[in-house]
Amino acid sequence: MTFSDLGLCPELLRAIDAQGYSTPTPIQRQAIPAVLQGGDLLGSAQTGTGKTAGFTLPMLQRLKDGRRPAKRGVRALVLTPTRELAAQVGESVRAYGRHLPLSSHVIFGGVGQQPQVDAIRPGLDILVATPGRLLDLHQQGHVDLSAVEILVLDEADRMLDMGFIHDIRKVLKLLPEKRQNLLFSATFSNEIQALAGKLLDAPTLIEV
Ligand code: AMP
Repeated sequence: MTFSDLGLCPELLRAIDAQGYSTPTPIQRQAIPAVLQGGDLLGSAQTGTGKTAGFTLPMLQRLKDGRRPAKRGVRALVLTPTRELAAQVGESVRAYGRHLPLSSHVIFGGVGQQPQVDAIRPGLDILVATPGRLLDLHQQGHVDLSAVEILVLDEADRMLDMGFIHDIRKVLKLLPEKRQNLLFSATFSNEIQALAGKLLDAPTLIEV
């Protein structure tokens, strides 16, 4: 099984090649076709399994194939619990998307907000964010989430452990009803299951 068997476009295959990956990991073999089909996904995966590429690659392809809306909003929103993970996911988005005409930016708290505001203003294909800073910028009118097509919650269990459930609920209220949702978590507490039940519509289940 190769990445090209999974239905990824030449631009992504070139970027994967440059990363030096020869074969997809188990989670990538399952997640990539499912996400390309447009359905929701519930992924049980630890870091180190290749889950970041598992959602980033098909997300990039769907954004590339879709039509960019006229409005200056965000098309795909990836929420992460920490600034380190946000930076890491943002780096993957940049690396895998290097041959595609898609824009991305990473925002998190603890640093000045003006450069983030400037980056978001023209609209973005992909915004990777920690929940607190995202809500801060939204409350100030700097982020438009009303046309989000794809939502990813990465390491959702850690987000709940860190007390972000209220922030996540607030973010969900800002998104359009019709969208694709991907939720990744290493563990499945009752709280995570409740969130998944509320968020996901007939999700593909992936366990590695
Ligand atoms: P992740 O689980 O997404 O944090 O990825 C763990 C590490 O595996 C990262 O350093 C990736 O660059 C690497 N990686 C992801 N997919 C593959 C692959 N198919 N082959 C080899 N390495 C990979």
